[in-house]
Amino acid sequence: MQLHSIHTGNFKLDGGAMFGVVPKVLWQKHITPDSNNLCTWAMRCLLIEDGDHLLLIDTGIGNKQSEKFFQHYHLHGPTSMDSELERSGFSRDDITDVLLTHLHFDHVGGAVERNSMGQLRPAFPNAQYWTCQPHWDWAINPNSRERASFLTENLLPLEESGQLNFIERSGRWNHNPISSKFPGLEIFFADGHTESQMLPIVEFKGTKVAYMADLTPSVAHLPTAWVIGYDTRPLLTMEEKVELLTKAEKENWILFFEHDAQNACCTLQATEKGIRARNLAPSLELLWG
Ligand SMILES: [Zn+2]
Repeated sequence: MQLHSIHTGNFKLDGGAMFGVVPKVLWQKHITPDSNNLCTWAMRCLLIEDGDHLLLIDTGIGNKQSEKFFQHYHLHGPTSMDSELERSGFSRDDITDVLLTHLHFDHVGGAVERNSMGQLRPAFPNAQYWTCQPHWDWAINPNSRERASFLTENLLPLEESGQLNFIERSGRWNHNPISSKFPGLEIFFADGHTESQMLPIVEFKGTKVAYMADLTPSVAHLPTAWVIGYDTRPLLTMEEKVELLTKAEKENWILFFEHDAQNACCTLQATEKGIRARNLAPSLELLWG
């Protein structure tokens, strides 16, 4: 098995929105905002290569929205989905599976593209796409808080394509979600950010690597109370972080960050203040040396 970090580019979001009730004097010690209080965030996907199977986790924001939409998010950075797949030796056609942690546009936007006829189509033509039923139902009937994050152009083309599949959920953990293809994969379901967000955890080189998605989008979000302002159930997010980070620290896992612009991953240590990063690395390869 091999893991490839796929950095699809950076975008900007308001620092206050990303740190909720945490005062700016505290969060700006970790991330420097620009003059409009916007901070840079990565959209870093993870590609799991296992035998003949290639599983892509999340897809970034994509490129099909209007110029006006993209202006709000200040896309920048030297890499893209295509350049990163090519660097790893693959193309879109090679992807066999796409797991969507949740259906907010910065995670699923790249799953659907506009073809030369202007039609919306799955951007990975040979892939099975994976979501879960409770999250799908939540996304296609959006609450007013998340309505701007669930875009129909990201959802309906997947449903119409026949390429959409549902991972079963019963409880907090699913230890064998796509068993025939990826036997070592587990899913932790988290409901604080949105309903039934899926965090994939994969066994690699004798340890586990957890894709943290929006439960802990960056190293700065490790403290229990540092919860994203967009979360629909912040108290639940705090419980979920304690559960997952405690297990991860005890078992020496590696956390992989989707949105941290500086750090792709870290290991953990228990401190008197709580669980914090031990080793930080800008790439997975560096953590293994
Ligand atoms: Zn999200």
